[in-house]
Amino acid sequence: MAGFFILFWVFLLIIMENSEKFKRILVTSALTYANGETHLGHIAGSILPADMYVRYCRLSGYDVIYICGSDEYGTAIEMSAIKEGISPKEIIDKYHFLNKQSYEGLGMSFDIYSRTSTDIHKKNSQDFFKVLYDKGLLYQKSEKQLYSEKEKRFLADRFVIGTCPVCGYEEARGDECENCGSALSPLELKNPRSTITGDTPVVKESTHYYFPLSKYQDSLDKWIISKSDWKPNVVNYCKGWFKTGLQDRAITRDLNWGVPLPVNNSEGKVIYVWFEAPIGYISNTIELFQNSKNPDKWKEYWQSNDTKLVHFLGKDNIIFHAIFFPAMLMAHENYVLAENVPANEFMNLEGSKQSKSKGHAIYVKDVLEKFNPDTIRYTIATNMPENKDTDFYWSDLQAKNNNELGAILGNFVNRTFVFAQKYFEGTVPEANEYLEIDKNIINSIKSYSSSIASYYENYKFKDAVSETMNLVRDANKYFNDTEPWKAIKDDKARCAVIINTCLQLCRSFAVLFNPVLPFSSEKLLRMLNISEEAITWKSAAELKLKAGSKLNNPEILFRKIEDTEIDK
Ligand SMILES: [Zn+2]
Repeated sequence: MAGFFILFWVFLLIIMENSEKFKRILVTSALTYANGETHLGHIAGSILPADMYVRYCRLSGYDVIYICGSDEYGTAIEMSAIKEGISPKEIIDKYHFLNKQSYEGLGMSFDIYSRTSTDIHKKNSQDFFKVLYDKGLLYQKSEKQLYSEKEKRFLADRFVIGTCPVCGYEEARGDECENCGSALSPLELKNPRSTITGDTPVVKESTHYYFPLSKYQDSLDKWIISKSDWKPNVVNYCKGWFKTGLQDRAITRDLNWGVPLPVNNSEGKVIYVWFEAPIGYISNTIELFQNSKNPDKWKEYWQSNDTKLVHFLGKDNIIFHAIFFPAMLMAHENYVLAENVPANEFMNLEGSKQSKSKGHAIYVKDVLEKFNPDTIRYTIATNMPENKDTDFYWSDLQAKNNNELGAILGNFVNRTFVFAQKYFEGTVPEANEYLEIDKNIINSIKSYSSSIASYYENYKFKDAVSETMNLVRDANKYFNDTEPWKAIKDDKARCAVIINTCLQLCRSFAVLFNPVLPFSSEKLLRMLNISEEAITWKSAAELKLKAGSKLNNPEILFRKIEDTEIDK
């Protein structure tokens, strides 16, 4: 018991320290590239953990906003447009709205899901570039580049394919080899040719602006060392880069599709997508507040030191969020740096990597047509690739739905409501006198809600969810041990205490499961006849249901998934 109290106070102290140090929390999920449909790999990497974190923060009363959107420039989109004979705008419109809809269907609670093709973003990223330019931080360098005489254009990144100098793969792209994963530049390719026409390019000089990333290595190193709570995968990845030595980076490209350079004599050049895309987080925050009473409010989030900035992302984006973007923010000097960058590993599909380009993925839109969004969220959350790659299996989705959500949570709620309907006129019965067994389960709600909170505070989403389900397991045990089916015959007042306690537990579940099961949480609140605004994390441990208050009719939370559905 003493051990439990010490643990309880440690959790409380962590939470208190957090809320004192920071006045507000700014959460981002990696922008989704608007070149294809979003799949479960994206959900597991950067979207679901962020949404769960934000939902927890809102319930805990933190001032939090959640920013995401579509990343809409870059060579891949221009390339698809040329191949399909349509404009880049048609491509981004299609995927921006489709993906936005998929995320809504899965209950993602962004404060804004905007896009980088807006005028706000164009101006904001140009302003950002201009600040660094005016400070004299950027420098120009002429470099050799591949140029197609036939197309009258430079062939940047994916516009050129050729043989990989590392592994000999003949279809390697100008920016990377998909076969061996090497990062490449177009000039390194052997036997280069235009992706569009197959033409052999010539070498021509072009002038680009460079960001002096090498100058920021020491500051970045110190900054990352000062973070004791970052995931080891992120820290080790960055250390690897520091060991090799950071190189200055060209931040402009010879392309048509992108944000034009805000400086003279730069026709045909745009800002490199990985320079402007992360600025999209800022642009989208500006857009969020632009029509509010206080349009400058975005500055409170981005330009105050008491903001806790947290970037959620997949491991393929660590370089940009832990090195490149922070260096840009350091150079600009007006912005807060990330407090944490909790990158996830990959969630593979039945044993191999999910990939949009290879068509090996489960698209959110398709899976939503067949299954409960909460079942999808729960299956991913309980198998989240927090420390290593994990696999998504359809059989796992069925098992999690039937054996955990249905058999543990759904069953407890159902049993409780059946008793309340049948023996107590569909109201909350009175609890007169608690026995030791009742007090124990009521106390355990308190300890669970603080341990679950601590998992959320520390980005341990898998643990948070399994701990929440453990409370339901305890609740089922309580139901079985107290035997309300016997009590109703021998001592109705005793049965009332048990069912009252079980209903209070249902209310706690509606709060504690909200981050991962928002739709079921809403249903449960409706059944309990409580409005969603009335719930807070703190109140999960309080006995808020009043005796005599009317309940609504029970609804099925999770229907059984049959083998035939999974075979399909
Ligand atoms: Zn290769």
